[in-house]
Amino acid sequence: MKYSNEHSFAEAADAQDPLSKWRDEFHIPEVDGKKALYFTGNSLGLQPKRTKDYIDQELTDWSNLGVEGHFEAKNPWFSYHEMFAEPVSRLIGAKSTEVVVMNNLTVNLNLLLVSFYRPTKDRYKIICEAKAFPSDQYALEMQVRCAGYNPAEAIVEVAPREGENTIRQEDILAAIKETGNQTACIMIGGVNYFTGQVFDMKAITQAGHAVGAMVGFDLAHAAGNIKLELHDWDVDFACWCSYKYLNSGPGGVSGVYIHERHCENTSLPRFAGWWGHEKETRFLMEKGFRPMKSAEAWQMSNAPVLSMAAHKAAIDIFDEVGMSSLVEKQKKLSGYLEFIIDDINDRLMNKAENRWLENITPRNWDERGCQVSIVAHGYGKAMFDVLMAAGVISDWREPNVIRLAPVPLYNSFTDVFLFGQVLETAVKR
Ligand SMILES: *Cc1c(COP(=O)(O)O)cnc(C)c1O
Repeated sequence: MKYSNEHSFAEAADAQDPLSKWRDEFHIPEVDGKKALYFTGNSLGLQPKRTKDYIDQELTDWSNLGVEGHFEAKNPWFSYHEMFAEPVSRLIGAKSTEVVVMNNLTVNLNLLLVSFYRPTKDRYKIICEAKAFPSDQYALEMQVRCAGYNPAEAIVEVAPREGENTIRQEDILAAIKETGNQTACIMIGGVNYFTGQVFDMKAITQAGHAVGAMVGFDLAHAAGNIKLELHDWDVDFACWCSYKYLNSGPGGVSGVYIHERHCENTSLPRFAGWWGHEKETRFLMEKGFRPMKSAEAWQMSNAPVLSMAAHKAAIDIFDEVGMSSLVEKQKKLSGYLEFIIDDINDRLMNKAENRWLENITPRNWDERGCQVSIVAHGYGKAMFDVLMAAGVISDWREPNVIRLAPVPLYNSFTDVFLFGQVLETAVKR
């Protein structure tokens, strides 16, 4: 796509965009009576207009049926989570038995580590990326301690090289090789939340398996953002949240993927509850846990139907649109954002005077999704405050990064153009 920093270009691009109609399916927040330029779908996705109906359905069934709703509701609550197996498996590239929706993300990460971080005296290390999302860092630290090991020795962090912003893929592979058969588990964010860098999950999984380690990914910033093929990549386990790119509402339920070879291994240790027990005998209320042979075996509790109803509304949209067309538009749209930032840098900024916008997200298509992270050198947080006051809803991360995520499902080329206009006034101040 040949870009231009002109309103007419953005309008024409929107007119040709086959996904532009989806914007109307979402509530767009307003700032000062004007539709906001919303670039934080990577933090909290917007509300689909249909979500209210999906939740209302469950409230109505609950008020009319009481406990009978478990089996008599339009979408019976007993099996509510089962409706996600097919569409969510398509979303992340898995078999339907390898997927379950339950709990919240960090809870699920801990549950998965219970099963897939099984350290021994000789093999007890976890490889992760440096500066992982803090919740993941805390989970890893305490999993290591609960297993009786020392986090300072057991956790191997792979960091960007001195003076670089992103982690080199070759350095991750080298760390795996070097840690070798001491590696119990590799757990990396599939897309780094800070820089937006996408890691080569297939290569990491291969390298991990070559040294006998379990390999899992936190896909909080990947699910609904990039194309995933978890089963074909042979990934052992993964989890993600549904309130970022997946638009399922604040604190929405999380998704879990577990490779079928582990689902079929009923002797694998795990935390358990009745909802993971074989369905046929669940209500006999007998002693002795007999896990289902699917990812559902990791479920402990019955489904939180109200938040799952919001998830259903969102997943139905993804299933209609399909990840392939989203990814196609995503490349054009975030490419346009890069172009606008470059254009402003070229025309209005001066690197020698330390007044410039540094894009710290990889430029390579394979190494990024929607998100573009910039450092506004010479401006700092003041730049972010100006953007927010002008109706650009973006995200500030300490110490100095502005994260912007033009989401192909509801952001437009015009959004990106108008953002550029605001940015231009902000850098001239
Ligand atoms: C957003 C995010 C979380 C948030 O965890 P919750 O359990 O949903 O509060 C955790 N890890 C990563 C990598 C994230 O991006």
